[in-house]
This record gives sequence, structure tokens and C-alpha cells, in this order.
Amino acid sequence: MMTMPDRNIEQHEPSDVQRRLRTLPSVDRVLSEPALATALDQWPRPQVVEAVRSELDIARAQLSNGADTALAPADIAELAEQALNDQLRPSLRHVINASGVVIHTNLGRAPVSAAAAAAMSQAAAGYSNLEFNLEAGTRGSRANHLESALQALTGAEAGIAVNNNAAALYFAMAAHCAGREVIVSRGQAVEIGGGFRIPDVLLDAGATLVEVGTTNRTRAPDYANAITEDTAAILRVHSSNFRIVGFTEEPTMAELRAVVDQADVPGVLLIDDVGSGCLLDTRDFDLAYEPRPQDSINAGADLVLFSGDKLLGGPQAGLIIGKQAAVDTLRSHPLMRVLRLDKAAIAGLAATLQHYLAGDAVQTVPIWQMIATDPEQLRERAEHWRAQVGAGEVQPARSAIGGGSLPAETRPTFVWTLESEHPNDLARQLRAHDPPIIARVEHDHLILDPRTVLPGEDATIVNALQQLIGGTE
Ligand SMILES: *Cc1c(COP(=O)(O)O)cnc(C)c1O
Repeated sequence: MMTMPDRNIEQHEPSDVQRRLRTLPSVDRVLSEPALATALDQWPRPQVVEAVRSELDIARAQLSNGADTALAPADIAELAEQALNDQLRPSLRHVINASGVVIHTNLGRAPVSAAAAAAMSQAAAGYSNLEFNLEAGTRGSRANHLESALQALTGAEAGIAVNNNAAALYFAMAAHCAGREVIVSRGQAVEIGGGFRIPDVLLDAGATLVEVGTTNRTRAPDYANAITEDTAAILRVHSSNFRIVGFTEEPTMAELRAVVDQADVPGVLLIDDVGSGCLLDTRDFDLAYEPRPQDSINAGADLVLFSGDKLLGGPQAGLIIGKQAAVDTLRSHPLMRVLRLDKAAIAGLAATLQHYLAGDAVQTVPIWQMIATDPEQLRERAEHWRAQVGAGEVQPARSAIGGGSLPAETRPTFVWTLESEHPNDLARQLRAHDPPIIARVEHDHLILDPRTVLPGEDATIVNALQQLIGGTE
């Protein structure tokens, strides 16, 4: 390397950064590294060249910012190879949910049953009679695959499925209430999550929100007094993700039915967004009562809306059940095509509904299996983890139902827990595992709850914890 004469130092000697930038290897030099030999076999050359360029750009930027970045050709080659391999790995990955939150919205909500997963896979991989009448050999309707099960399970006259429950609510508002008024209790004009706010949905669907009552108390006469010639519907929204306790009051669906029936204005619809789509009685599992779609139908709701992937335990969907005429208006509305459900979700949903029809949902639908699991069984699993890992403790704790269902409701469990000064670092290491493992951190404890760990994933948990403990010693 050339050295500058001392006297020129002020004008000509390049800065430290510039000098280091010049030591960056050329693209060709990096391409000749053995680390890239396999990549050059596997990938088209321009893609490998691009990956190397990109890593050199990153290194250049880091050097310019004063970072002490590795510059050796072998290092750049290794980074480029890793970047190429990362491209092969889908961004959406299977993870192990050890958080103890049964319906974890960030982790994809409900895992579906084996039968539902098989049905979804088969529908996706092959052809189906999605919109084909096998008997007549003519065009059929995709709505037919779910309707009879929904009728049988809820007593509703009719039922359809759309993309999700948010879509169901928007759809009901746009198709039935645009340009007119919708009466909502002040305590229900809420945000349901992820920026989904009832007032905004109504506004966007072209309906006018008429709030009645107060945040904590709304009575039947509040609704009755608000009905005018412009009223299209009374909308009830279940408080899925929060709870107002204490001095509270909301009329029942039956009381609202009476309000609508006694009103001078005909044709006002009673619409109930029950949220979680829970077909079972949650009180059988020592949980607070969660409104069921069939209860709303029984009480006289015209339309009942709920999710497919919360307490129903199926794939993402929005179900709309209710009176024939009200559902038919939706069926023939242009938005039906915009919001319709895809074939894999229809197949998964149909298989999920079959479990309820057969009466074996608690044994076959994963979220119900998890909710119903006896704490003693969970203690055994946590003890097994502790014995295999040779570290940590087993302690009683609570698993949450989560996912905008049953706020504050929990089930007793036993967890594997490890005290640490850096529990968040440990949780991060578990997330870096393949497959990633999602644990919980509370105070100075790393916590893994077996309730939400699927059968067959215990060995992976034990392996990961052994690595983790080994790594911290
Ligand atoms: C969860 C929920 C929604 C939104 O349902 P998605 O299926 O997430 O679109 C709407 N309303 C209520 C009451 C809910 O609990």
C-alpha cells in the first residue's frame, strides 16, 4: 500500500473512512469465494451477483457511518449466501405458541382441527364442486356448502360466509343501512382492535351513527325513543375485548326485539355482532357466559355476525346468519362478490362445523381441546419439560383465552418457568429458534405454558430449552 509523504497530509491523505472503503473487495473477488460455490450452482449468476452487490452496498454504508464492519471477501460472501437462502424461506412460518394465550391474534388465532386442515389442503390442491351442481351438471353456488350446517347449528333461516367478521359488519351496514340511521349504544361504539372502530365502519359504509344511552348504562326506552323514519337498524356490538364492570345495564336481545316490534316504523333490522362465534356454552368450562349466535337467533335478531377463527375454532371467516330476506339482500348485493370466502376457507369451515354437528367439538377442535385440558395434565407436561431440561421450575399460573374473546377470562394451568436477569433475551433466543417458540415474560421470569403447545411439539420445546440453558451457562 502506498504511503503519503508527511507534508501533504492536510490536503491529500484520505480520511480513515475513505481508506477503509477502498479496501472493500470487488464483486468478482467475492464471487470467487468457496462460500458461494454452491449458490452459483443453485442460482442464476445475475442473482448471486446482485446479492453480493447488495451486501457490498450495505458494508459501504456501514463504513461511511463509521462502523467497524467486516470487510474480508469471505465475510461478504457468507452474508450474500445467507441472504440468498433467506429468500427461499417463506416469511410466514409455523411457530410454537407457548404463550398460554389460546386465541392469539398475532399468531394466527385458532389452529384448525386435523379434519379441517386436511379439507383445506385438499380443496386447495385440487378441483372441487365449489360452484358446480354435481347432480345437474350446471353452475352451482359456493354459498351452499355452509348454509345447511349453519341452519342446523343455530336455528337461523339462512346463512352466508364472507372474508372475516369485520367484512360481515361492513357488509351488513353497507347493504342494509347506507344513507340511513343505525342506533348503537354509547357503550358499544367501540374500537374492536387494529383500528377497527364501529363509528368509522358505519361512516365508511354510508350509514349514520345514532348513539344512545351512556357508556355504562343504556335501556330499552333509549333505543325506542331514537327510532325515526330514517332508522335502518339497531346494532348491538359485543364487547369482545374489554369489560365494563359495576353499575352497568344493557337491554337483552329479546328486549330489543320488543322495541323493534313495538315501533311505529316498519322494517327496522335488529343486527347483533356477537364477535367470537362461540357455539358451546362457555360456563361448562368455568368461564363467563359468552353470547352464542344461536341465542341471538332465538331471541329474534334479524342478522347475527361472528368470526370463524375465534371460539368457533375454524379458519378466518365472517359468518352472517339470520332471517331469509335479510340474508338474501346480502346474497344478491354486489359486495357479496367482493367479500366472498375462498375455497380452502369454505372447506375448513365446513369441516369445523361438522365437529359441532357431530357433537365432538371438545375432542376435535384444538381451541376447545386446549380450553378443556385438565390442569393436572398440564402439570405433568410442564414437569416432564423440567425433568428433561434439568432446569427451571413448575408453577401454577393462568392461561388466557384471548383473541378478542372472553376478556379477563382465564383457566388454571401449570407453567415451566425460569428466573433470569435477562428474561427478554431468553425469549428472543427462543424466537430465533427454528421453529420459533413464543414464550411469555413476567417480571424476571421466562414462562412457557403447555396449554397452547400442540401435541407433538413437546420434544421441540425440550430441545430448544436445553440449548437455551446450555447457552446461558
Ligand atoms: C373480533 C371481532 C370483530 C372482527 O372480527 P374479524 O374476524 O377479526 O374481522 C368484529 N366484531 C366483534 C364484536 C369482534 O369481537
